[in-house]
Amino acid sequence: MTTLEAVPMSRTANPTAPHPPERTIRRTVRDDGICVLTFDRPGSAANIFDVRTLTELGEELDVVEHAMSLKGIVFISAKKSIFVAGADLKSMTEAAPEQIRGMIELGQSMMNRIAALPIPTVAAINGAALGGGCEIALSCDYRVASTDRATKIGLPEVQIGLLPAWGGSTRLPRLIGLPKALDIILAGKSLAGKPALKLGLVDDLAPAECLMNAAVRMISNGKPHRKSHTLTNNALVARIIALRVRPQLMRKTRGHYPAVTKALDVVTRGISSSVQDSLALERDGILELVQGETCRNLIRIFFLQERAKKLTIPDAPRSNSKTIARTAVIGAGVMGAGIAQWISTRQTPVILRDINAEQVAKGMSTIGKIYRDGTKRHVFTALEARQGLDHVTPAPTEVPLRNVDLVIEAAVEKMYLKKKIFARLAELASDETILATNTSALSVSEIADAVRRPERVVGLHFFNPVHRMQLVEIVAAKQTAPEVLQRTLQFVQRIGKLPVVVKDSPGFVVNRILMPYLIEAGNLFESGATIGDLDEAMLDFGMPMGPMRLLDEVGNDVSLHVAETLAAAFGDRLKIPAHLGEMIKAGLFGRKAGRGYYLHDKSKKEAMPNPCATIYVKSNSARTLTRDELRERMVLLMVNEAARCLEERIVSEPGDVDFAMIMGTGFAPFRGGPLRYTDSTGVERIVGAMERLTNSGAKHFAPCELLKQMTAAGKTFYNGK
Ligand code: NAD
Repeated sequence: MTTLEAVPMSRTANPTAPHPPERTIRRTVRDDGICVLTFDRPGSAANIFDVRTLTELGEELDVVEHAMSLKGIVFISAKKSIFVAGADLKSMTEAAPEQIRGMIELGQSMMNRIAALPIPTVAAINGAALGGGCEIALSCDYRVASTDRATKIGLPEVQIGLLPAWGGSTRLPRLIGLPKALDIILAGKSLAGKPALKLGLVDDLAPAECLMNAAVRMISNGKPHRKSHTLTNNALVARIIALRVRPQLMRKTRGHYPAVTKALDVVTRGISSSVQDSLALERDGILELVQGETCRNLIRIFFLQERAKKLTIPDAPRSNSKTIARTAVIGAGVMGAGIAQWISTRQTPVILRDINAEQVAKGMSTIGKIYRDGTKRHVFTALEARQGLDHVTPAPTEVPLRNVDLVIEAAVEKMYLKKKIFARLAELASDETILATNTSALSVSEIADAVRRPERVVGLHFFNPVHRMQLVEIVAAKQTAPEVLQRTLQFVQRIGKLPVVVKDSPGFVVNRILMPYLIEAGNLFESGATIGDLDEAMLDFGMPMGPMRLLDEVGNDVSLHVAETLAAAFGDRLKIPAHLGEMIKAGLFGRKAGRGYYLHDKSKKEAMPNPCATIYVKSNSARTLTRDELRERMVLLMVNEAARCLEERIVSEPGDVDFAMIMGTGFAPFRGGPLRYTDSTGVERIVGAMERLTNSGAKHFAPCELLKQMTAAGKTFYNGK
């Protein structure tokens, strides 16, 4: 193979002409005449398509288009886990519309030029080929994917409020047929190698180390002859599908996610148009979407996630922070088992301790079930599941914890018990062991007081179910040392969770904001609002689940317990409805008991409102409130509490609150979080609505000082950014 990196780049038709260093694409020509274009962005673990890479791609195409001697081209990546991760989203959001149009056109023209090359082309995919990364693969004649776990291929654009516009909406249905393509595009799916092969999205699979050989074999087949999917890819079928799918999408998104319906339009209209016309539909579609508030908010969430992955503690010493390699979890219940299972997936040893063998066995069986379900859903191979399980050591009796770097306590939510457990942990562990609690709302600082060297105590609040919820609140107690926070933060990032760092305060951020909302829903129900109206009002707002349904999911006993902790701290702001305790007495705990506000019959697809719950309605003062009025009350309380989290410096910036609420509760992502929602609604309007309700006698709506000051000063949370 000829490697030609040291000599200057040429725009001539000589494919062996060399490159200057520091390019994002490296070109080599093998002895067999196959040109290899390797994506390898300098100084980065990822390849992305920004203007620079697209321009360089253009320069490479200038060369290969005129190189008569080449036998074929392989596109490959030098990165460990990324082929091309997609387009540069920063430039998509920050650029003016004309620049965005330029970028879309540039991308489309590159993909068109690849598709038009007279020699066979192959994308050899190891790692993520997403968005633009998938689209360049689609413009090649063949795709070969590695069997590596990191390999995923797909078009996730709708998840950030966009649609595939570098030919993805046009070429995917032509390759795999309209219905299968819609299935991927409308859900923003990405697929591992095996399912991608099954769908026809890739042509072959190979272990990563054999990928190049497999790609070269493809080239020897010459240009492919593919079937044309005439049965599905025609104007009539496309119209029928569009008519059938559109109402389903509207029901599912409640009209809040325009990218999904726009993508449906573009793909179904594009399939019966020429490629050029279909690309024009893609262009117009994305330009409309990219200027909308929904797209901007969804892209902001993407950046908040990226920020969480790189977060550091400002005043923590950088050097000598020992990696957390050995862990223990105390309490093998719902959370303890979930946390231990997740840690074990990262090949990190974890001891699972509970009060007796029976409880530990229960925990181990929970872990086994999560692994079994994961294996069924192809999240793990059977081998990975077995290796994961091997990392969990059950401990029905006390074990030494001297060699453990981090202990996470997830026993029952009682302060006296947690203090007792922590005092004992301090004796069993070394002075360097970090002691964390998974408490939902208790004071971490008070727990730390029970321990010698309290500076190593921290809150580590995972959410339920642990294997699905990405957020972890890292709670800094008064005593927590910055170094301890930093090590804990790194651990959370290493195990693939998304951290938000919060100060110790009742309910931290997520439960503190969520609970007043759930309690208000409970009070409105007690005052005559129906379960259906309360849930529908918030589903319309964009929550993934209504508050009454969520109360059932959390369990009335758990909600009451958290609400009591918060009410003790916040007094009049949180008036716990009397019926919550009454329902618990009657065994109406929620889903875990099969009944609560809903009847949860496993044989039925949908839970039905529980007719018996109406006996807990105590007045009819809320009966005449419209859904809009119900929604306003529930949302305003979340906004007020979110603003208080900033006012009290529980977090350092508005993005932390919004990120925590979206990741921890599913707060309407398209609205960008409660504080972003406040900015877009207008702080003055929000405060006005709060004051109106306060003046009508509902004192718990009184706006916090920060909101009042912001109104007076005409300020917003994000200063228009
Ligand atoms: P759970 O009742 O399912 O499990 C608690 C476990 O702790 C039980 O197995 C119990 O035997 C064990 N335990 C009790 N005393 C112990 C001791 N002295 N030593 C060791 N183990 C002991 O409770 P859970 O839902 O898993 O909650 C655990 C903690 O996580 C609580 O602090 C809770 O507030 C918090 N949390 C719960 C959720 C949730 O949704 N369930 C979410 C986030 C945080």
